Amino acid sequence: MQKDIATPIRTKEILNKYGFSFKKSLGQNFLIDPNILRNITEVAGLTKHSGAIEIGPGIGALTEHLARTSKKVLAFEIDGRLLPILEDTLSPYANVEILHQDVLKANLKTVIAEKFDGIEDLMVVANLPYYVTTPIIMKLLEERLPLRGIVAMLQKEVADRISAKPGTKEYGSLSIAIQYYTIPETVMIVPKTVFMPQPNVDSAVIRLIKREQPVVQVLNEEFFFDIIRKSFAQRRKTILNNLSNGLGKDQKEFILDALHKTDIDPKRRGETLTIEEFGKLSDSLWEFVN
Ligand code: SAM
Repeated sequence: MQKDIATPIRTKEILNKYGFSFKKSLGQNFLIDPNILRNITEVAGLTKHSGAIEIGPGIGALTEHLARTSKKVLAFEIDGRLLPILEDTLSPYANVEILHQDVLKANLKTVIAEKFDGIEDLMVVANLPYYVTTPIIMKLLEERLPLRGIVAMLQKEVADRISAKPGTKEYGSLSIAIQYYTIPETVMIVPKTVFMPQPNVDSAVIRLIKREQPVVQVLNEEFFFDIIRKSFAQRRKTILNNLSNGLGKDQKEFILDALHKTDIDPKRRGETLTIEEFGKLSDSLWEFVN
């Protein structure tokens, strides 16, 4: 087997060979610990029949672990300076394809249909660029791609918000948006020392396994998420006040009515409502509106 790209010595050799300098603006913090990479790959549960999509391969540290454990790896890299490096470091792996593309602009549905034809088990596995963690995860979920799930390294603070339960200070619209589509689990807390350069924040690896159906069936999904955002607009305010501010003061009576119908005390704060309660409330409001 090849020597790992991710050892500190080999990473430094590669960076020196190509005179590569990190771009902070692209969230470039490369992993330099092969054990962490083995763990990430294991948590993803890949087999020789699986496909893996990576976002931001860097110099290929995680990519090679994915290549060793899955059938095919497709990686999106925005930084063109990394392409010749990846061609070199990943030359032993015939099952890797790199696309020079901003993942946020990619047409993922088409790319997946084209590149993973016949592959039934598909996971996104990535050490995400921290400046765009949330937009990337939301894109992957909202576009309803044929994924089993996502394993991602991200800021610990974001991982805490994603898996937060009602009634905690971390619970908010991000927790609900992600728990609507997936079952999240923080599988590892990761020290700063395994990155080069070291980031300013603590990190965690989170696994999101997609639900077959969203956790609640609502009449209008866009309206549901809009109600949630409005309910959290000012965390210290009650659900009634936040919704009246968001939907219009003249709507207070009909909001009160919907809260009563759904058995939700108007004095509660948004952060105490479960996803199911938000589902019922948004359906009741939607019926009023239409
Ligand atoms: N996977 C490598 C590792 O673990 O060592 C690098 C991870 S580094 C945290 C994030 C990578 O994402 C960088 O290579 C960066 O250039 C790339 N990146 C940043 N924004 C991106 C985007 N919008 N689309 C695709 N790649 C992006």
